[in-house]
Amino acid sequence: MSRFLRVIPVTDAVAAAEKIAPPVKTEHVPVEQSAGRVLASDIVADSDIPGFDRSIVDGYAVRAADTAGASDAVPAILHCTGRVAMGSPDPGHTVTHGTCVYTPTGGVMPQGADAVVMVENTEEAGETVLVRRPVSSGENTLLRDDDFRQGETVLPAGRLLSPQDTGVLAACGCVSVPVAQKPVVGIISTGNELVPVSSRPGPGQIRDVNAPMLAAYLREYGCIPRIYGIVRDERESFEATIATALPECDVIIISGGSSKDDRDMTSAVIAGAGEVLVHGIAIAPGKPTIIGLIGKKPVFGLPGHPAAAFVVLITIVCPLLDRMLGLTKPRFRTTRAVLGESIPSQKGREEYIRVRCADGIAYPVFGKSGLLHTLIRSEGLIRIPSVCEGFEKGMSVEVILW
Ligand code: AMP
Ligand code: MG
Repeated sequence: MSRFLRVIPVTDAVAAAEKIAPPVKTEHVPVEQSAGRVLASDIVADSDIPGFDRSIVDGYAVRAADTAGASDAVPAILHCTGRVAMGSPDPGHTVTHGTCVYTPTGGVMPQGADAVVMVENTEEAGETVLVRRPVSSGENTLLRDDDFRQGETVLPAGRLLSPQDTGVLAACGCVSVPVAQKPVVGIISTGNELVPVSSRPGPGQIRDVNAPMLAAYLREYGCIPRIYGIVRDERESFEATIATALPECDVIIISGGSSKDDRDMTSAVIAGAGEVLVHGIAIAPGKPTIIGLIGKKPVFGLPGHPAAAFVVLITIVCPLLDRMLGLTKPRFRTTRAVLGESIPSQKGREEYIRVRCADGIAYPVFGKSGLLHTLIRSEGLIRIPSVCEGFEKGMSVEVILW
């Protein structure tokens, strides 16, 4: 077996990952629990919203023409014929020339009225109302279907629902919302040197950083992470853990042992149970990455270095998760910044540089691979495409925020 990886471009690796994404599975959740989930079907307005013309201020519903030229010095004088009751289906009043009806915010517009004068611009004297400002037709009113028309698509499938969206879903009468099921992602850490977080590492040992970190990111990304603990670099226990995880998960992520060292077993274990589709990606960090399939389940072998595992999670695994969730836009947040320092890059591989952002300027955070502190002293990553030999200081760059 060759000791070298057959490296493919990032776009090909992403395409390979997307191709093996299991189809979206849907479920329904109560509307108040739908924020943060991905909408699985278009939501259509079940009626006009609002369902009636309404006032958007406390004031007097009038015929706008009756207020033409009204001022403090020469107010329009109208006769108030009644009050609209909130929530009442029919105002039971009609505004005719020279009359008005008091209408609270959200009240039904009385027949005949086409505008509302804010109460602040009026003065009441018994049944007479002095109007001190003119209004134009439609002023201070919402027309039936101004928000949404019955049958209109209000929210499209594939949208990551925000808390505001749930308010609109509620307005549409969507009690239970169709959303993508959260993919269950198994996480396996490998390496004889790893000890659980609860242990104090002895000589030569380190704590398992990847499992909690990957799980935290995946949870935020809308998945259900399941940690299967640490497996030693021994084929049997490795295979046994994968066999346990497979039926319980939709996707499996293994970190460590993904290269071609004698101890690296991930590729052989995946090949033994299924097939390895990709082994080696032109990305830095993250070159020794594996994409495989066992049965119909995608299995990823991520490099052990936490920063590299993280970059591969974002660049290669997330596009697959997007497919599984039916997401139309990746979930990560980005911002733009000006580069505070030039960054050289090796052509032929896509490079991800951690950056610290301050006042709109992004400074690269360089550090030897394997260092953890760069993860917390940076706000995100910038991507240097494989065709570039670097980015110049002063360039505007997109930062993928972690
Ligand atoms: P490997 O990919 O197994 O060759 O590991 C590369 C480096 O990442 C080694 O220094 C490992 O000790 C380290 N490493 C592997 N897995 C983890 C993990 N779960 N947490 C922290 N470091 C790890
Ligand atoms: Mg290892």
